[in-house]
Amino acid sequence: MKSKIILLGPPGSGKGTQGEKLSEKFGYVRLSTGDMLREAVRKETDLGLKAKGFMDSGALVPNDLIINLMKEKIASLGEGTGVIFDGFPRTVEQADALAKQIDIDLALNLDVDDEELITRLTKRRTCPQCNSVYHLTYNPPKKEGFCDKCGSVLYHRDDDKEETVRNRLKVYRENTLPLIDYYRKKGKLVTIEGIGNIDKIFDQVDKALQ
Ligand code: AMP
Repeated sequence: MKSKIILLGPPGSGKGTQGEKLSEKFGYVRLSTGDMLREAVRKETDLGLKAKGFMDSGALVPNDLIINLMKEKIASLGEGTGVIFDGFPRTVEQADALAKQIDIDLALNLDVDDEELITRLTKRRTCPQCNSVYHLTYNPPKKEGFCDKCGSVLYHRDDDKEETVRNRLKVYRENTLPLIDYYRKKGKLVTIEGIGNIDKIFDQVDKALQ
């Protein structure tokens, strides 16, 4: 059973949703750099203050900040703990740093075209408290505007607005897309079509772990 998993794929491809389901089913720890950074921004920590400007424009936060942040998180994982990396690594430099600390079993690439990504992100709503995500059409919350899980008021992330989304997709193509070849060469890559029913996609994600 594979237990050290990277979720690759562009913003909006379903990494958070599938990662959450994996974490629920197998009890793996989900490490999302995006969630950690948003929390740091909310709390106005040193990291948050440094990261905010990059995040607002859809740019990547500098590698050294991310690598330092993740180094500590990975070091604190218990022996044999299953882990899902969501949104990390996003550059070859980050992937090389990760490889020095941990042997990855699987890099799952969720494949979704740009058109679909733009509608997904512009209609995505996020819970600031528990980080659950919803889609106004495909996966709406039971009570409009509120998180099903914790009842908090949902919000539209600033970087999910169309202008910034387009920039994030460009940044993804330039910096993160090369990781598909990087993990293919290591024999770790599995690509899954990320469009369609969430549970059906999860069946394939689940199979890739076996
Ligand atoms: P996400 O929630 O994964 O879409 O991340 C939101 C934003 O956080 C990104 O647009 C980047 O600005 C920043 N970010 C998250 N993960 C990374 C990473 N691994 N490297 C650099 N920047 C990151």
